[in-house]
Amino acid sequence: MGLLEGKNALIFGLANERSIAWGITQAFKREGANLGISYAGEMLEKRVRPLAEQVGCQWVEECDVTKDDQIKLVAEKAAKHFGKIDVLVHSIAFAGKDELSRPFHETSREGFRNALDISVYSFVALTHAFLPCLNPGASVMCLTYGSGAVKVAPHYNVMGVAKAALESATRYLAYDLGPQKIRVNSISAGPIRTLAAAGVAGFRDMYKHFADAAPLRENVTIEDVGDTAVFLASDLSKRVTGEIQYIDSGFNIMGVQIGDKEEKAG
Ligand code: NAP
Repeated sequence: MGLLEGKNALIFGLANERSIAWGITQAFKREGANLGISYAGEMLEKRVRPLAEQVGCQWVEECDVTKDDQIKLVAEKAAKHFGKIDVLVHSIAFAGKDELSRPFHETSREGFRNALDISVYSFVALTHAFLPCLNPGASVMCLTYGSGAVKVAPHYNVMGVAKAALESATRYLAYDLGPQKIRVNSISAGPIRTLAAAGVAGFRDMYKHFADAAPLRENVTIEDVGDTAVFLASDLSKRVTGEIQYIDSGFNIMGVQIGDKEEKAG
């Protein structure tokens, strides 16, 4: 029997087969969850629907998380279709290209507002909107990048600030919802080649350096993140809340990073 058998799980942020949300969707399917998928807008529908079909998902809904009315509507539709929800995954982020290539101090007010609205506030708003239909014991989770949130990742800029806020929001939500036995956690994934990552200047170098310097000497995959999400969604983690769960081949433990080449030379 799968670890998520009998659980209703909604995943927000599927764009294509490279999305972290796709790794999570597949892992949830493998573990027997009943799935619902939400995507950002019309443009994505033709990519998302065939993926949803692959995993036998019948609830596929559009939701632009900058729009309160769309969030409200999607929560109502989910409640009608599923009754109660056990797992809610937020795998959404956005920052303008300029903000991810210029020096951080040149971040515009509008760029800052947009990045934090889409990447952070939406997590709070979704959690609030779904609260009436979350079962006791439900698990809510989001995706962060700790290397850019608690430390500096060159060019990650306003997205690093957004992820720091997202991690903090995770703790505040965990505190709020704890008495209802609802858990809230973040998954901090190492760099993965996705559409969102392509917008970060210098991502390729960061990706390569990561595999060179991480203790396990390898990059992580969307399947790895899916497995971590299964743990957080399942009852195996029933006393885990407010945590930032790293899945990064151990990269974050390093104080000084030396790649394999430098080490051999050294
Ligand atoms: P992705 O496939 O591009 O997913 C990002 C998703 O956010 C897309 O589906 C995107 O839709 C959606 N989104 C953007 N604006 C939205 C809006 N207004 N309403 C609803 N959805 C919106 O990239 P990903 O790498 O899998 O990103 C998923 C999460 O993982 C993000 O939180 C990201 O920061 C995090 N993460 C990624 C990495 C990495 O290296 N890739 C590492 C750590 C954490 P559109 O395509 O339409 O914009």
